[in-house]
Amino acid sequence: MSWPWRAPQSAQLQLARPSQQQSSNLHNFTFITSLKSIFSQIIDREIPANIIFEDDTCIIIEDISPQAPIHYLAIPKREIKGISDLSDTDDGIIDHLMIAIKNEMSKKRIKDYRLVINNGSEAGQTVFHLHIHVLANRTLGWPPG
Ligand code: 5GP
Repeated sequence: MSWPWRAPQSAQLQLARPSQQQSSNLHNFTFITSLKSIFSQIIDREIPANIIFEDDTCIIIEDISPQAPIHYLAIPKREIKGISDLSDTDDGIIDHLMIAIKNEMSKKRIKDYRLVINNGSEAGQTVFHLHIHVLANRTLGWPPG
């Protein structure tokens, strides 16, 4: 078995080599968990989704639990946890998502839609991989709940 050993993709558990000091005591393994987001698993085709659009930077999928007749999620391929985790190297990523959404909605001739980004659990975020909800084809109330 090659070292470091890597678990199957779905488990995403990495067993790191112990340091020299630690290697005298083999109980001192360091476990590093690097759980991939559900959206990264969709991007990597490890779990299925209805994909509406994809390019090198982003993917647009149908939400598994739609809150409107049209409910898409526009997701950057780079795994950024949320809006508050954007950094300077992410410059342009939101523009890219917006243009991809606009193009998809234009293609479908849908003019009225709402875009939502939940940032943080108190704001309703449940998947910590940045995404923009795209809701359309029903009347949407304001303010949101
Ligand atoms: P959030 O609550 O983080 O703003 O939005 C997460 C969204 O992801 C929810 O609307 C939820 O229905 C959707 N979602 C969660 N798991 C999956 C999945 O496995 N596949 C798809 N297509 N959507 C998912």
